[in-house]
Amino acid sequence: MTQSERNIHPSFDQFVSRHNKEWLLQQRSKVVWLTGLSGSGKTTIAKGVERVLFEMGHITMILDGDNVRAGINNNLGFSPDDRKENIRRIAETARLFLDSGIVTICSFVSPMEEMRQAAASIIGKNDFIEVYINTPLAECERRDVKGLYAKARKGEIKDFTGINAPFEVPAHPALEIMTKGQTVEDSVRQLLEYVVPLIQHDGVR
Ligand code: ADP
Repeated sequence: MTQSERNIHPSFDQFVSRHNKEWLLQQRSKVVWLTGLSGSGKTTIAKGVERVLFEMGHITMILDGDNVRAGINNNLGFSPDDRKENIRRIAETARLFLDSGIVTICSFVSPMEEMRQAAASIIGKNDFIEVYINTPLAECERRDVKGLYAKARKGEIKDFTGINAPFEVPAHPALEIMTKGQTVEDSVRQLLEYVVPLIQHDGVR
């Protein structure tokens, strides 16, 4: 045992449990993991769902690609190793919120099955709800919310998912939302119908 190991005294038995925090908040926590192309609607749906859950009295947290990359992951780029580390930190962060009883909505392109599986195994399969925001590439490109598709087509962005980097369609998502031809309200409602029963608390301590 090293000197520094001798100075670490884990005391998990003294922490208030997730179970008790869920009781306090009167909700069951889950991680809702939205995956899909840029512009598919992840952030829009996450915000809409959060607003309704808040009005219903639920505490939520949104972890979103751009915010995380501007903050906790601002030292990471888009190399394969950095993309892996990006997802690992996001999943570990989501787990902290999960363990605090908070319903956590993660909005990340997360294009590879391997990444989503890595996130699922950090978060725990029972708490990880994979939702595929299925919007065709042509529709995402038509929306081009951030002008990124135009830049990628001009060759100004390397490895842009859907243009010159792959998106692996989730094999068995818990839910698939096809936003094309759907209003934002419809998509938000579809996700709420799935999530609300899962976060209901039975009131028993
Ligand atoms: P992402 O977070 O996946 O990159 P955004 O949510 O930023 O995507 O952008 C999605 C765009 O598509 C928004 O401008 C939104 O208004 C539009 N949109 C149109 N229909 C829908 C829908 N049914 N669900 C979500 N977004 C939609």
